Amino acid sequence: MAQWQGDLQNEGIDYMFKIVMIGDSGVGKSQLLNRFVRNEFHLKSKATIGVEFLTKTVLMDHKLVKAQIWDTAGQERYQAITTAYYRGATGAFLTYDITKRHSFNHIEKWLDELHNHADKNIVVMLVGNKSDLSSNREVSIEEAEEFAKQKGLFFLETSALDSHNVEPAFLGLLSQIYMTVSKKHI
Ligand code: GDP
Repeated sequence: MAQWQGDLQNEGIDYMFKIVMIGDSGVGKSQLLNRFVRNEFHLKSKATIGVEFLTKTVLMDHKLVKAQIWDTAGQERYQAITTAYYRGATGAFLTYDITKRHSFNHIEKWLDELHNHADKNIVVMLVGNKSDLSSNREVSIEEAEEFAKQKGLFFLETSALDSHNVEPAFLGLLSQIYMTVSKKHI
């Protein structure tokens, strides 16, 4: 099970995993990343956090794993995500907004994008964000679970606002990547 290690230096890192945040604009990608790495949330945030990526180091199975997590910087609004964004990514955090049906309907399009640009073994965590707004829900948990099962994705609902499931979603994705990658190293 993964544990927090705070802000460790680069030295002694056993694994570095690149993760890409994808999903429609406004679903909460930047705030999920902000919550995971900095434990902060901004309700009126601008669309991006203004950086290409943030990093977080965790201890997993006695190994130091550094996650380098890339944010789109709003490129998805212009369908301008470049191939370079996906290059070397071992995991994708594919987010929709549970209160916006269309953001869930677009998940297939995002999977096509991964199919076209990312490594075929990329591990995908499907994330239904804004679970704190479940009274305005437009996508049921059951439907998303069924979809994830069909497509071979991991799935969790999260809230960047109240922190619900944010750590389990990122750490779950990292654990799955670790298991895939470490097998190759044994
Ligand atoms: P991005 O375009 O996907 O990066 O989305 P942002 O992270 O910029 O978030 C878009 C808007 O949704 C912002 O106003 C956020 O404050 C808000 N938001 C993000 N996550 C949540 C959440 O979990 N709950 C609620 N209620 N609002 C959220």
